[in-house]
Amino acid sequence: MDENIAVARARKLLKDAGITTVPVDVETLASFLGFQVSRTELADGEAGCTVERRRKICIWVNQNDSPLRQRFTILHEIAHHVLELPSRHGEKVPSDELERFTGRHPEEVLCDIFAAECLVPWVIIQPLAEEKDFTLEHLAELAELFQASRSCIASRFAQASGAHLAFVVAEEGVVKYSIVSKALREARVWITKGIPLPQDSAAASALKSGISGPHEADTEGLDWSNSDDASRFACYEQATYHAPTKQTQSILIFEELEQRPVSSGYRSARDDRDDLLEEIDGYPGWSKPRY
Ligand SMILES: [Zn+2]
Repeated sequence: MDENIAVARARKLLKDAGITTVPVDVETLASFLGFQVSRTELADGEAGCTVERRRKICIWVNQNDSPLRQRFTILHEIAHHVLELPSRHGEKVPSDELERFTGRHPEEVLCDIFAAECLVPWVIIQPLAEEKDFTLEHLAELAELFQASRSCIASRFAQASGAHLAFVVAEEGVVKYSIVSKALREARVWITKGIPLPQDSAAASALKSGISGPHEADTEGLDWSNSDDASRFACYEQATYHAPTKQTQSILIFEELEQRPVSSGYRSARDDRDDLLEEIDGYPGWSKPRY
């Protein structure tokens, strides 16, 4: 079982169940498979569990979790059955575990991949990723549209985009997860798991400051990647910090460095300034990040 199989099975399930719009109706997916979903009182810190009763599979989700988390939990549980991967967390899914990367079993990560593919279907995110810029503002809009977490949306966006992008999740200052876009991979730039966050990165300063708001930084490609080809890129980063898990999420936009023609210098400078004004304006609702 690898990632590609998990993704292919998720796409097949969506197709078989006739789901073509977002937010994906996870209840419909569950009942298509003959599973029953119940929202119930579960212990704090328990996201959900699956019980089998009289040959009927019932997924219980914690009614006190946010609706986004409940959606993800249901799909994660569905994944265990569709992928035929026994649960490695016992019967109960601890809620602080989903979508995290420290100390997870590969089977559990595959179930998350399946869940993400169902929540943010490729055919729908792909054109949106071409159309929109990779910014925290747009990720928040897409999170609303798909009813999925920002990290889920950011990963899918980076996978689907034709631009030079990456999404990096670090815990306690160490990179745990990174997704680079196809274009960046083809430019032979990668970001290795297990490396410390670059010192001058927005994520590193967010972690140091302990402040959960948005942080941004201009860095160089080589700060993030030990690939020689990274030297051809500058890197603009927006980062967020989540104190309870000491998790940072960075969205990275790599810009290939090139000489600008002298004659257009003035115009380019003006255009840059206009862009900057637009981006500074772009954080409505940031004070309520979704997790
Ligand atoms: Zn699981």
